[in-house]
Amino acid sequence: MAAFLFILGTAFGSFLNVLIFRLPKGISIVSPRSFCPSCGKNIPWYDNIPILSYILLRGKCRNCGARISIRYPVVEGLTGVLFLTGYLLYGFSLQYIEFLVLVLFLIPISFIDLDTMLIPDVLSIPGLMFGLLFALLRGRIMDGVSGALAGASIIALLYFVGRLIYKKEAMGVGDIQLAALIGAFTGWKSMFFVLFIASFTGAVYGLIAVRGKKEENIVPFAPFLSLGAVVAYIGGKHLLYFFSP
Ligand SMILES: [Zn+2]
Repeated sequence: MAAFLFILGTAFGSFLNVLIFRLPKGISIVSPRSFCPSCGKNIPWYDNIPILSYILLRGKCRNCGARISIRYPVVEGLTGVLFLTGYLLYGFSLQYIEFLVLVLFLIPISFIDLDTMLIPDVLSIPGLMFGLLFALLRGRIMDGVSGALAGASIIALLYFVGRLIYKKEAMGVGDIQLAALIGAFTGWKSMFFVLFIASFTGAVYGLIAVRGKKEENIVPFAPFLSLGAVVAYIGGKHLLYFFSP
């Protein structure tokens, strides 16, 4: 069962790759079949098997030999690992489904933000709705609503303070929406950990990435918020217990 869920996760990851590539470009996510971005040739199913095809093709297009980004198997593997982790933690339960929906929104949001510095509304708004729906189904709607409000208002505050002090936008409206999405899933108490982990890892990344480059470089925040969200979601009660006086 564990192996099946991992493979199922990689198949979902393969679809997330399509989303990540096509959404920002406004290409339909269903109509043209998978194609090589370099030569445009359709990719046959046997060259489109998650992770495996990348290894068999040694990371090159069968037709034109163009390099296939390592990003594809990474996203597939990451999704597979999270499908497996969720199952080991929650078994087949409503919480497992909730966890899967959360990561299925966080992964494309993170990679699209990394590529474009934008978070598409078509992901963040439905993600928030799903978060509130699951909060309702699990009988913790007030926690979900207050989590969404806490997340959105803290990031909104940072956004306006950043604009006042640095005269530039370190964060965007997309980050506010994403923090609301995350808060709906984790509840307001866990937002503290989400923001702590996101700021810490984001700052470390910023120091490494910006070194030697212009200071104009802004760091996409979604991947770090998402990392914080997954850690806080999984850590949940344990983190709160550990840090409570
Ligand atoms: Zn090609």
